[in-house]
Amino acid sequence: MDIEQFRKAGYAAIDSICDYYSNISNVPVKAQVQPGYLIDQLPKEAPENGQEFDEISKDFGKLILPGITHWQSPSFFAYFPSNSTFECMLADLYSASVANPGFNWICSPACTELEQVVVEWAARMLGLSENFWGSSGIGGGVIMGSASDSAFTAAIAAREKALRQLSIQNGVKPAENGQVEIPDSIRQEYGQKLVVYGSTQTHSIGAKSALMLGLPFRAIPVSAEDQYSLRGESVKEAIEKDKQDGLVPFLVYATIGTTSTGAIDRIGEIGEVLKEYPTVFLHVDAAWAGVANALPKYRESLRLQEVNEYADSFCTNFHKWGLTTFDCSIFCVKNRQDLTQALDVTPSYLRSKEADAGTVIDYRNWQPALGRRFRSIKLWFVLRSYGIQGFQKHLERGIEHCDELAKVVESSKNFEIVTKPSLSLLVFRLKPSSTTAVQVDDDELNIINQRLYTNLDLRYDVFLSQTVLHSKESNKFVLRLAMGGVNTTFKDVEKTWKIIEEEGEKVLDDWEKQKKELEIES
Ligand SMILES: *Cc1c(COP(=O)(O)O)cnc(C)c1O
Repeated sequence: MDIEQFRKAGYAAIDSICDYYSNISNVPVKAQVQPGYLIDQLPKEAPENGQEFDEISKDFGKLILPGITHWQSPSFFAYFPSNSTFECMLADLYSASVANPGFNWICSPACTELEQVVVEWAARMLGLSENFWGSSGIGGGVIMGSASDSAFTAAIAAREKALRQLSIQNGVKPAENGQVEIPDSIRQEYGQKLVVYGSTQTHSIGAKSALMLGLPFRAIPVSAEDQYSLRGESVKEAIEKDKQDGLVPFLVYATIGTTSTGAIDRIGEIGEVLKEYPTVFLHVDAAWAGVANALPKYRESLRLQEVNEYADSFCTNFHKWGLTTFDCSIFCVKNRQDLTQALDVTPSYLRSKEADAGTVIDYRNWQPALGRRFRSIKLWFVLRSYGIQGFQKHLERGIEHCDELAKVVESSKNFEIVTKPSLSLLVFRLKPSSTTAVQVDDDELNIINQRLYTNLDLRYDVFLSQTVLHSKESNKFVLRLAMGGVNTTFKDVEKTWKIIEEEGEKVLDDWEKQKKELEIES
């Protein structure tokens, strides 16, 4: 493809993207294909001779789009939203146009410096304390591909930090520049005794990070009474037990806005407990809810003050609710040396005079991978195009939709809200009120809700998700509806709710029939 062909194909691509968005509310949210649908339609090998681009791009519409689940559909309520905006699509195009792996400042100074600036814009907008800002010269932020990468990077940083502390305790003297070499003997003695903590509600990224480091993950129980938040006392109990067994606690994953119910862990309590255990690092995973700190009135319920006081690192995804096309996970630390002391490995071919002089950031030293995408341009475009106020309005809309829907569910005779609505997330289940003819006991509730979910899942015009709430008292099967989609109006929410209500009625009718048949048989 030459420049003129690119110009023509580029205009055509934008036109077809516009058509896609003009029509997005008319197509079912879920892909209507069976497993293997695409594999069966594509040749087994790449073509021997090059093809016309027209032909290739037509196949995007013909073969790919049918297999796309429309996350940008106004009827998408599963998982959490993964909002995309036109600003970001253009940003990605510009980013691709200057394609580079940006690992060192000199690879493209703009990529590093824009990232430094917009991550700090984000941190300030969210009310994170100056300790997390890059301009503090001590802390700072970096854009990762996912909250998983942020959590894993935090784990590596935490492990090295704990081992450095143990080295000092065992008589190792820091070098003149303050660096501590961890002797092999310390790694051998303590490396396999380290333990990671989270709750039963922690996202699976917590257990996965531990697994990748070959270390155990303790899923500490929570209770429904505490709205599924992790408490300081429970953390202390788990840590004490491991210490008695000769193990070394080194990392707690606390969550602000759990995936299942949007629960907010008690960061203050946990932080106070951790004061007694200096080898333990506190990472706060606020992947979904963290962006809501842009609205000052929610900061107290999001425990922002406590995060600012106690967390060593903090992560939130702008690529969920935050209008930034996947991927853009903001990862901020209070001490950037926690990252660089764990991840800076510099052979001579990666050295540069600017880095040697200590005047620039080489972001490769803040993350496991060497190469990195130019992601900051997306957030830069979004924050400038929307402004903080536009960003706030978008968040408020999602919360309003949830509040409105909560009223509808509360007044319905067949459904109950299971946990207090969390921002734009509503967790509910089918539960006929005692005034209705249908009687369902607690164990049966899980069965009828599973049936409801199965029936909803067979449809293509609704998409929400299921979860099981594990607590000290019980396991509840529930449904969750995540609002906050950038293209969603309350009408769209109502449309989906109507379908849920209808399917709920059917499940209850069938339940009644089945019970009557059983009675007749006996
Ligand atoms: C979505 C989510 C994650 C995972 O995010 P990725 O960016 O896909 O890794 C982790 N934790 C919480 C609380 C989440 O909501």
